[in-house]
Amino acid sequence: MEHAPLIDPFARPISYLRMSVTDRCDFRCTYCMAEHMQFLPKKELLTLEELDRLASAFIGLGVRKLRVTGGEPLVRRDIMTFFRSVSRHLDTGALEELTLTTNGSQLARFAPDLAALGMRRINVSLDTLNPEKFAKITRWGRLEQVMQGLQAAKAAGLRVKINSVALKGFNEDELFDLIHWCGEEGFDLTFIEVMPMGDLGEEDRLDQYWALDDMRARIATRHPMVDLAERTGGPARYVKLTDTGQKIGFITPLTHNFCESCNRVRVTCTGELFMCLGQEDNADLRAPIRMAPDDDGPLIDTIRAAILRKPKGHDFDYSRQSIAGQMTRHMSHTGG
Ligand code: SAM
Ligand code: SF4
Repeated sequence: MEHAPLIDPFARPISYLRMSVTDRCDFRCTYCMAEHMQFLPKKELLTLEELDRLASAFIGLGVRKLRVTGGEPLVRRDIMTFFRSVSRHLDTGALEELTLTTNGSQLARFAPDLAALGMRRINVSLDTLNPEKFAKITRWGRLEQVMQGLQAAKAAGLRVKINSVALKGFNEDELFDLIHWCGEEGFDLTFIEVMPMGDLGEEDRLDQYWALDDMRARIATRHPMVDLAERTGGPARYVKLTDTGQKIGFITPLTHNFCESCNRVRVTCTGELFMCLGQEDNADLRAPIRMAPDDDGPLIDTIRAAILRKPKGHDFDYSRQSIAGQMTRHMSHTGG
């Protein structure tokens, strides 16, 4: 590490950066995007070189894990140039893990290269195993293409975790199918509670909300389970199904507050640093990057000043049957 590490006002070391490399996507998942999205003009986006500079600055400040997200990261043009370049930090040992959250549509093309540059694990978002339902929830996606991507990832030796958004009345009936399919394929599985992001209408979001405590109780009717103490510094809690040995994660930002162990920050594709997914406060990192093309000093000063403003936690709350703390950003903007 070149500089003193980043420690926030609540003594939490910042070791995990999630970085969005594009706001664009080849899908239009209903809980994430509107069908007709206005995307950012290209000049607003950080270039691949600027993304590398930014990631490298954070790694120099003690970030050990970098997760690339979006929009859909693999639809950004020449994104492999960025991955190849940033993977040098894996070679030096400065970075422990380089990973990706993807919808899987482009994996058939990219999985071998990702594995070759040192990526070991990826998260693939998939909410249903039914082709018609898949087309409905993603609007533009084809399940077959994602399935081919998943097989390519497996063949390349990438460990896969499936992320499924729990949606009442949509994939409730597939709970056990998803669990058994992941077991057969050797994929890990994490369920995510739908979060009040974007502007898709309060009523719909409340209708879709399926509390994971309820899901957990349902799983317990068929599989004995034990809680695992394991935490990844993130919002997931894990159980182990003792009959199959499978591990299942639950990301419950709304029913369990996980902020106390938060070690992460997020950067959008335009270089806004968000210290908390659930708060609006952010810092512009693009200005210091562009202002001083050959000097990371202003960038590092801006990052440090922002980390000192990292809040204790977020304010999401469904409990009053209306959405308090609702964010106006889409998930594809902050990068999930
Ligand atoms: N396109 C990639 C993908 O789908 O994996 C990466 C970006 S996507 C915004 C990251 C994650 O956010 C996905 O797992 C997606 O299901 C999740 N997500 C999007 N909108 C959400 C919402 N309103 N509530 C909960 N999760 C959401
Ligand atoms: Fe695209 Fe991922 Fe959002 Fe779906 S969840 S629209 S795949 S960014």
